[in-house]
Order: sequence, then C-alpha cells, then structure tokens
Amino acid sequence: MHEMTIVSGVLKIAEDQARAAEATVINSIELEVGQLAGIELDSLHFCFGVACKNTMAAGAELVVHSIAGKGYCSECAKEVLVGIQMGVCPECEKAILEISQGRELRVLRINVD
Ligand SMILES: [Zn+2]
Repeated sequence: MHEMTIVSGVLKIAEDQARAAEATVINSIELEVGQLAGIELDSLHFCFGVACKNTMAAGAELVVHSIAGKGYCSECAKEVLVGIQMGVCPECEKAILEISQGRELRVLRINVD
C-alpha cells in the first residue's frame, strides 16, 4: 500500500519539525494532495491513524487540501480540468499530454505544541 510509504515520509518530516521546535506533541498535519497524485484519501487517513500510534503525532488530525487536476490541451489551446490520471480533455476528448497541476503532494503546515 503506497499510502503507508507516503504517511511514513510525512510523519518523519512532522517529527523532525516538532523536534526542531522543541515540541512534544503534533496536533495536526495539513497536506496538499493533487487529485492526480494517485492517492486514495480513505487509505491515506487509515494509514495515518495506524502510523501515528506511539509517536508524537498520536491522535493528531490529518487535514487534506485537495488540488484539482489540470492539464493543457493542445487541441483546444487552453488549460482544462482533468478528472483522472492520464485524462482526456472534457471539451474535445483528446488525450491531455501535459498535466500542469494535480500531482502535488506536499506538507503545508504542521501544528505542534
Ligand atoms: Zn481539448
């Protein structure tokens, strides 16, 4: 399950930051997750709950900010919304070659005490 790998990485970043701030508790972690990043959010939340046990982040809240998928359609010569990975243009139904947004996975904010 690759969500577990992601969660482990995020948790490590959070713990490093918490230690650097001399905090003992991680209250919440905010992530930006692109809709085309291939991440199952239910699974992400589940893995987060499991991975946080017995860490500074035990009981922490995981807040996910979803980022819409966008791509450039050369046929329509404009940026269009892309719903699925390797999506097609909703207007002309040609394959979108260039995804411009939606593959993000980034730690936005970590709230510690
Ligand atoms: Zn198009």
